[in-house]
Formats: sequence, structure tokens, C-alpha cells
Amino acid sequence: MERSFRKEVAKLRLGEGEVFHGEGILAVTKALLQSGVSYVGGYQGAPISHLMDVLADAQPVLDELGIHFEPCANEAAAAAMLAASVNYPIRGAVTWKSVVGTNVASDGLSNLASAGVKGGALIVLGEDYGEGASIIQERTHAFAMKSAMCLIDPRPDLEAIVRLVEQGFALSEASSMPAMMELRIRACHVHGHFRTRDNVRPRFSHNDKITQPDFDFGRVCLPPATYAQEKHKIEHRLPAAIDFIRTHKLNETYPGETDEIGIIVQGGICNTLLRGLAQFGLADAFGTTKVPVHVLNVTYPLVPDEIAGFCAGKRAVLVVEEGQPEFIEQAVNAILRKADVNAVVCGKDVLPMAGEYTAETMLRGLDGFLARHAPASLGAGEAVARVGRLLAEKDEAAKAFGPNLPLRTPSFCTGCPERPIFSAIRIMERELGPVHVSADIGCHTFAALPPFNVGNSVMGYGLGLASSAGLAPSFGKRLVSIMGDGGFWHNGIASGVIPAQTNGADGVLLVVNNGYTSATGWQKLPSSVRGPDGRPRVLSIKRALKGLGIRWLCTVRTYSVGRMVAMLRTAMTTAEKGLKVIIADGECQLARQRRIRPEIARQLAGGKRVVRTRFGVDDDVCTGDHSCIRLSGCPSLTVKPSPDPLRSDPVAHVDNDCVGCGVCGEVADAAVLCPSFYEARIVQNPTPLDRALARLRGGTIRLLGGLRRAA
Ligand code: SF4
Ligand code: SF4
Repeated sequence: MERSFRKEVAKLRLGEGEVFHGEGILAVTKALLQSGVSYVGGYQGAPISHLMDVLADAQPVLDELGIHFEPCANEAAAAAMLAASVNYPIRGAVTWKSVVGTNVASDGLSNLASAGVKGGALIVLGEDYGEGASIIQERTHAFAMKSAMCLIDPRPDLEAIVRLVEQGFALSEASSMPAMMELRIRACHVHGHFRTRDNVRPRFSHNDKITQPDFDFGRVCLPPATYAQEKHKIEHRLPAAIDFIRTHKLNETYPGETDEIGIIVQGGICNTLLRGLAQFGLADAFGTTKVPVHVLNVTYPLVPDEIAGFCAGKRAVLVVEEGQPEFIEQAVNAILRKADVNAVVCGKDVLPMAGEYTAETMLRGLDGFLARHAPASLGAGEAVARVGRLLAEKDEAAKAFGPNLPLRTPSFCTGCPERPIFSAIRIMERELGPVHVSADIGCHTFAALPPFNVGNSVMGYGLGLASSAGLAPSFGKRLVSIMGDGGFWHNGIASGVIPAQTNGADGVLLVVNNGYTSATGWQKLPSSVRGPDGRPRVLSIKRALKGLGIRWLCTVRTYSVGRMVAMLRTAMTTAEKGLKVIIADGECQLARQRRIRPEIARQLAGGKRVVRTRFGVDDDVCTGDHSCIRLSGCPSLTVKPSPDPLRSDPVAHVDNDCVGCGVCGEVADAAVLCPSFYEARIVQNPTPLDRALARLRGGTIRLLGGLRRAA
């Protein structure tokens, strides 16, 4: 795992009245234990990967309480776990990254939401929306509305988050609706404190088992029960949820100092709003605001009378709602018209329809709203003018830079074992011409960016091979499909390999086997060498493929660029029909470095001989054409001025971050570039033999150098 929570999980044992200090994601875990959950599960993905990591590290605490924890095969499996709460009064929580995970889980979620729940069911979602996001930009809100699930969007404050987790279960039980809680990245990592309560032993668990199965056809998703379930959502569940939200004051109102204007904000971006208001002198660092603010900690369902009450008598109200479509703004308009409240509703007219509401975006939106509607009594006129001038200056500066600023795109890590696969594809293309590559989700998706630009389409996690199915029969060359080991087990084996076999597909599949779900923080996979508990794992991608009848199958070490090119060439040109699979093997370099660093430190401290490999470029040989950089893309490969005064082109240079994977040299060799690369071995704690050899080599080099000068 990227991060261990072994020390922090001690805080999960805090009892009544103690004070927890720490991070949002850990507070969520503590809140789950205080809520008496019986089971937890999920599938990792930013920004909630750490929740899975915390739960894995908290296994001893979970065991004591009898709570079952299951890292699921994918999000659909996690959603299906919640079936336990359909029939029995037991509480459960699952987690994944949204919206991609919610897409995968949506079949299970529709069935769950239709059947309704007896025990509280909470889905903790990492809402990966905005500038740091790595996925398609959509909102979870639409899922909540279509399936009638409550959507909690807590204010990023630990007390608020913990209260809403606990109340989320109660809300779910009161309304029979599953509750989703969306946590943006800032909420996951916000630090703070809250007063803890004792952990609650679940009513049913490992320790206290259910003895009688429950059968109720009304909870089975089959007609005619489904018709009654839909009516139940409208007639009972939604009204019950609205009643609970109102009665338990899940939403919050800050009164402010004016009756003329107000702001309605999603809980998750409340801090950004208050920070923005502070820039106008209308709020302080502790959240006291002069403009009345209604914080929607639950964004679905809305409570109509709460909203109408907040807006009544105001001239204008700003709805701060991140993303599109403007579900909340539309709903507020409808609520106000029905209640005959005549406040002007602003929102997407002053704030952008799409994209994250960063601090600057918020400032621009507030500036637009306040300039039009702020009453003089707030005394914000001067601040509004000042912020307006500042933003205009920023716009001028951006215009001066023009569209020519280079993009800072992400890339593979130094020494990544996935990079050489794409160098090999590029080298193969020199012989066979351009190929169509159906890419997949994972670190390997970075290959679509420069310098490789390999990857023509991305359709979803584990869907690389499936996304070749439509094009392959109509394409004049075999397609290359990519799939990571994470994607393979998540669904690629079922949605890609099995259909390819049964439908007689004739293509090339590259399974990138780096041993972890690296992009989400190195969680273990079914085929990882060891599980999180350190025990060896038994599943193997190779055996699974053989079991499915794949005959053309080979494993290639990714760093062996020459062999990878040769196998790709063969797979693309062989007369043999059917799916040809190359398992590209190479441990994630970042995980490997973390794994071996403590071991190396131990060896050095114990006086043991340690050899590190580094690569370099010989300045005298490098011609400065930089093909190695274009074909390797390693961030450690850079340029420096040529030491030769007669050559103006900079030469290639390997900087100090090099981990000695050897790919640059391999690529130079496989692509027949030049012999500039050399390998150097750095020996720490050398033996007498090492020292003698070093003296001998140094002497020989000096001697030959002297002879050359003399000649
Ligand atoms: S995390 Fe691992 S697999 Fe991903 S880019 Fe870095 S080295 Fe490569
Ligand atoms: S050996 Fe080459 S490719 Fe590998 S990390 Fe060093 S510079 Fe990068």
C-alpha cells in the first residue's frame, strides 16, 4: 500500500468523550465503528483508496467487534454486499471511487434502491471531480436522483463528517433508502478533531449470528413487486427521508447580518465558499459569515420548506453547485415558484456550468453576485471593486502568456516497468507501420501522452480488449489491446478474454502485470505475490488464461525491450489465428523502491556489500539527436550543454533520480540508436577485492588516457 495507517488505527479505539485528532478518512472509519456496522467492503480508487487501506490496517479492531471486512473484486460486488441490509436489520458500508465505480455498481445499486433496506446501508464515494481528477467528469448526483438514494455531501469538517456518517445510517433506516456519502479529495484529507464515542458492537456479526432466514417477496426485484417498490419510493421513502433531514437538522443555516441576500451551497464546497467570502471581508477564518448561508449537507432529497423558508423575503439567492447539469439550481427554482417566493435565483449565470469550483472560480462567482445584489448595508462595495480589479489583472496576465504555455501532463514514474512496453510498440511500428491500440485504465494510460502517443481509445477499467471487438473485423491489421493486471481481475477476464475466445477474435492482448493496483496506491491484487496479510496468494493470470484455452501465450520481462519488440512482431504477423496474449511482467518501480529501500538501509547499516546500478550518457559519443528521450520518456533523461565547443546541440544526460532500470540503454540498443549509454555500478561497503579491482581499472584507464594524449 502507498501508505500504512498502522499507527493511526490506534485512534479507532478511542472511547466516550475522548478527542480524536487526524485526517478525514480516518474519522469516517471511526464513525463507522461508532455506528455499529456489521460489514464493510469496497474497491479502491482515489480519493477513497485510503479508506480501504485504513480498514485493512484496522483488521484487529474490526475482529474484536466482529465486523466483516472484504476488499471486493469490483464495485458491482461491493454494491451487492449491501444485500445483507435488504433483508436484515444490520448496518453495512461500502466504498469506491465515483462516478466510474458507481457506473460499475449501478446494476446492484438500482436493485438495492428498489428493494429498499431494513438495516442502514451507506455507500462512501470518493467524488473525483475537478482539476485533480483522473476520470471522466460527471456527478454522482444523477445516480441518487434516478434510483432514489439519499445523497449526503458533508461540510469538510471532522465533527460534521462524523455526525453525518452516524446520521446517514439512521436516515437510511428511517427512509428504507440506501444513503450515499460523497467525499471530495479535500474532505478525505482534511485534518481536524472531534469528540469520540464508544465503538458499538453490531447487533449481528461474526460473534452474534442471524439464525432465521428472511423471505419477503416484496423485497425481491421482480414484477409485480418492482411496481410496488417504485410507488413506495415516492409515497413513503422520499417523504420519510425529507422528514428525517428536517427533524434532525442535517442541513445547517448560518444566519448572517442581512435579510436581503443569501447563499445556498453544497456542503462539500462550503469551506471554499467561506474562504471566498472572507476575501470580501464578509466571513472570518472560523466560518462566521455576514451573508446568510444555507449548507446542504444532504443534496438529495432537498427539503422544500427549508429552502423556501431560507429564501423568503430575500431579493436574491446564489446557488453554489459544482458541476453540471445544475440539478439543485433547477430544483430551487421549482421550489420557490411553487411556494410563491420571489427571490432572484443566481447560480450558473455567475459561476461556470462545468469544472471544479476552485478558490479563484469561487471568487469570480461571488464577485459577479455581490456586484449585482449585495446591499450597501454589508459594506462590501470597496472589496468587490478591489477583487474585480485583481481578477481583471489576472486575465490580462493570462492573455499576455497566450495559449503557448506548455501543458504539464502526467507521466510514468522514473524507471516504470510499463514505459518500455510503449517504447517497444513504437519501435515495432517502425517496421510494421502504425497500429491501433485499444488502451485501458491504469498507469499505462499515460502512454497516450507524449512522447509515446500510444492508445487510440479508452472505454473503461478492464475494457481494453472488449473495446477492440467492434473495430477488429474491419481493420486491416491486428489490433493491440492493453489491460492491466488490476483491470484483468476487475472485469477484463469476463468482459474481454472470454468473449474474445468465444467469438474467435484474432488480435493481440498485452496484459501489463506489475503486481499491484499501482495507480490507486499499490493495493494487492488476486495475483499479487502476497496479500495484505503477508500470506502468499495463489491466483495467476497465466494459469487463468491457460484455463480459458489461450494457446498463444508468452511472458516477457518488460525491461527486455528487444525481446518485447520481437514478441510483438511475431504476434502481429503470425499466421496463427485467435487471441495472442503477451504478459508484460515487471514490478511497479515505485512499489519496488519502497520495498527494497529499508532492506538496503539494513544491509548498509550491517556493513554488507551493496551494489547500485546507474546509467549514464557518454558526452563524447552522444550526437544530440535525442531519439533516446523520445523513445524512452524517462523523467531522468534530460539534456545538458555539450562539452564540445564545436557542437551547439545539447547532449542527453541522466540525472540523479535514475533508478538503474536500464531501459534507456535497452531502448537505444533495440532501436539501434547509438552506443552512448553506459552502465555504472556503485559499490557501497566494498570488499578488499572490489578496492583492488577499482585501483586496477582506474590505473588502466589513466594509462590508456595518457597513451591517447601522447598519440
Ligand atoms: S506507480 Fe508504478 S506502474 Fe505506475 S507509473 Fe509509477 S512505477 Fe509505473
Ligand atoms: S536507467 Fe535510464 S530509463 Fe531507467 S531510470 Fe535511469 S535514466 Fe531512466
